Amino acid sequence: MDKLIPKLQKLTQNLWWTWKPEVRTIFRDLDLDLYHKAHQNPMSVLKQITPEQLEQRAADVDVPARVDRALRQLQEYLTPVTTWGLTHAGAMRSRPIAYFCMEFGIHESLPIYSGGLGILAGDHLKAASDLGVPLVGVGLLYHEGYTSQVLDASFWQQDVVEPYDIADLPLVPTLDRHGEPVQVSVELPGRLVHAAVLEVQVGRIRLLLLDTRVKQNAPKDVALAARLYGGDQRMRMEQELLLGVGGARALRALGITASVFHLNEGHSAFALLERARHRIQADGMDPHKALQEVASSTVFTTHTPVDAGHDRFPADLAGEHLRPLAEGLKLPLDEVMGLGRINPHDHGSPFLPTVLALKLSRRANGVSALHGVVSRRMWNHLYPGLREDAVPIGHVTNGVHLPTWLATEMNHLYESHLGVCYQSALTRPDTWTKILPVSSAEIWETKQVLKARTIRFIRKRSADMRARLGLPEIDPAPLDPDALTIGFARRFVPYKRPDLLFTDLDRLDRLVNDPERPVNLIFSGRAHPADQTGKALIQKVARILEDPRFRHRILFIENYNIHVGRMLYQGIDAWLNNPQRPLEACGTSGMKVVLNGGLHISVRDGWWAEAYDGENGFAIGTGEIHADQAIQDQRDADDLFRVLEEEVVPMYYEDRNAAGVPRCWVDRVKHSIRTLAWRFNADRMVQDYVQHLYLPAAIGSSCQMPPP
Ligand SMILES: *Cc1c(COP(=O)(O)O)cnc(C)c1O
Repeated sequence: MDKLIPKLQKLTQNLWWTWKPEVRTIFRDLDLDLYHKAHQNPMSVLKQITPEQLEQRAADVDVPARVDRALRQLQEYLTPVTTWGLTHAGAMRSRPIAYFCMEFGIHESLPIYSGGLGILAGDHLKAASDLGVPLVGVGLLYHEGYTSQVLDASFWQQDVVEPYDIADLPLVPTLDRHGEPVQVSVELPGRLVHAAVLEVQVGRIRLLLLDTRVKQNAPKDVALAARLYGGDQRMRMEQELLLGVGGARALRALGITASVFHLNEGHSAFALLERARHRIQADGMDPHKALQEVASSTVFTTHTPVDAGHDRFPADLAGEHLRPLAEGLKLPLDEVMGLGRINPHDHGSPFLPTVLALKLSRRANGVSALHGVVSRRMWNHLYPGLREDAVPIGHVTNGVHLPTWLATEMNHLYESHLGVCYQSALTRPDTWTKILPVSSAEIWETKQVLKARTIRFIRKRSADMRARLGLPEIDPAPLDPDALTIGFARRFVPYKRPDLLFTDLDRLDRLVNDPERPVNLIFSGRAHPADQTGKALIQKVARILEDPRFRHRILFIENYNIHVGRMLYQGIDAWLNNPQRPLEACGTSGMKVVLNGGLHISVRDGWWAEAYDGENGFAIGTGEIHADQAIQDQRDADDLFRVLEEEVVPMYYEDRNAAGVPRCWVDRVKHSIRTLAWRFNADRMVQDYVQHLYLPAAIGSSCQMPPP
C-alpha cells in the first residue's frame, strides 16, 4: 500500500492517461461514484479516496499489477527507441515547433476549452506526442475555466461557473536555468501584467500555460485570464496580448528556441510582433527584415469562413494596446496598425488579428479542401493582383486523435483484426482494409454493447435534468433501445441549423414514430454565453421536444463537453450534420463517430465534401448553393427527410439475417471505416503539417536547418 499510492500518483502526473483507457479504468474501479463526481479526474479520485477503501478495492480489482503494467508502458512511451518524428522531423529536435492556441481540450477535468477549436488543439498535441514530433504547446490557464450549461425551467441556457481545483491537475511551475520559477510580463495600457508559466505533460509534449494568479498583479489583472471567452473586447484584446506576447516571452525565458511558430487561429497573432520586436532589440535587426524573417518561419491556420468568427478590434482600442510593441519594433504605430487592417491606409478601420496573422505568415492554411477554396476567396482582397487560386492559403484537413475517442470495445475489435500494433500504422490504408473480412455479427454485437451503455447514460442525464426542473418523469422510459439512434451535437448557431429537422413536425412525427421502424434522436449543444440567438435556438428545440409526440423519441442532453461527446460518439448508430454550405470549415465530430462504427449523414460541407464517396455514409443535398438562403434551407430540409426516410431508415431495418444483423448497414459501416479511418485521424493531420508546412517553414527561417 505504501508503495501503491506513489505509483498511482505517478500515473496521474502525465495526461497520457487521458488516452489510455486501461489507466483510466484503474481509477474508475477504485470508486465508480467518486470517479464520476470528480469529472473522471484520477488525481481528485486519489485525493478523496480513504486509505481503507483504497486498500480494500486495490486487492479486489487487482490494482497493483495493473499499475505496474501501466507504469512500465508509460516509461516505454516516454523513452522510445525510434519514432516517426525522429525519422521525419529529427532535425527540429533542438528547435521545436511552438504551437499557440487560445484553448486546449485535452480532458473534461481541465476546462480550458469551449469546443471544436480547443479539441482540435488537444488532439494535435496528443498525435504529435504519439508520433514523437518535437512540439511545445502554448496557451492560457483559465483558473475559473469555461462555463457549464444548465437549462432553466423555460429551457433558457444558464451559464454557470463550476469552480475546478487546479491543485487536482498535474500542473507544475516551470523553472529557469537557475531553478527559479519562470514569470513573464506584458505591457498593457498603464501597467505591466505578470504571469507565471506553468506546464503540464501531455505524453511527450510540454504544454505551457500562462497563469495570472501572481501576487504582483492587481485583482483586475488576476481576473484577466480567469475565464475563456469571458468579458468584453478590451479583455479579449488583453487576453490575446497575454497569450501572444507573454507566450513568446515564456518560450524565451525557458531557453526554447522554436524553429516554427504555428498559430492555431488568429488569437495568438501578437506573438509574431513580439518575435520581430525581440530580433530588433536584442540583435539590432532592421525592422522590415525582422518582420520578413518572422513570416518565413510562421504557419497560420484559419478556422472559420464565418465573418463574425474573426475578432475585429476598434482602431482606438488596438492603437492604445499596440503602442509599446510599435515602439519596440521601431515602426510608426500606424504602420503596425496597418498590418492588421484589410486596407492599411484606411485609418479608422478596425484591427483584425486574422489579417495580422495572414500578413505575417508565409504559410497559411484552411482546415479542409473546401475551406481552403473558401478562404482563398474570402481573403483574396488582401493580395491585390493575385488571382483567387494563387492566394497563398492551402489546406490541411483536420483529423481526430483515435485513442482519445475510441471505445475500449472497438479498440479490442481493431486489435484482434487489424493487429495489436495497428495504432502505430493508423495512416496506412492497408491497416484498415483488414476490417473488410471481419464478421458482420461481431461488429454489430460490439456496437450493441456500446449503444446500450450510451442509452443508459442519456436516459440518466435526461431524468436528472427533468427532476431538477420539476418536469414529470417520462414513463415508460424514453428511447427504444432497439431503434435506429441518431445523434446531433454541436454548438448552437444559426449556420449549423440545429432546427432543420423541426421545420416539418408532422413529417418528423411520422419518421420517429413509425411503429415498425422507429427512430431515436439525441440533441446536445451549447451556445456561447453571450449569444442570445444560439440560446433561443436551444429553447426552441427543447420546447418542441416536450410535445407528447416526441417526448419518448427525442431527447436533449445538457452541457455538451468532452465527456458527453465521448458517450454519444461511441454509442449512436448515425451522426447528423446539416450546416449551411460552405460555412462548416471542417467538422470533426462525425470522424469520431465513424471510428466507433457509426455512419455519418451530412451536407457536403467541410471534411464531408472530400470524404463522401457515395457509399461510406450518406449525403444531404447536391452541393449546389442557392442564392436565397430560405430556399436553400427548404431544399436541404426536404433532402434531409428524404435521405432519412428512403436511405438511412430502410438500410437500418431491412436485409436482416437470422440473427437480426442488418447486412447492408454493417457493410456500409465497414466500407466507411476502411475509406475514412486512415485519412481523418490526427496522426495524418500532424504528418501533413510536418511535411508540408513545418519543415519548409523551418528551412525558410534563418536558423540553420539541413534539408529533410
Ligand atoms: C469533436 C468535438 C467538437 C467539434 O466537433 P464539430 O463537428 O466541429 O462540431 C466539439 N465539441 C466537442 C465536445 C467535441 O468532442
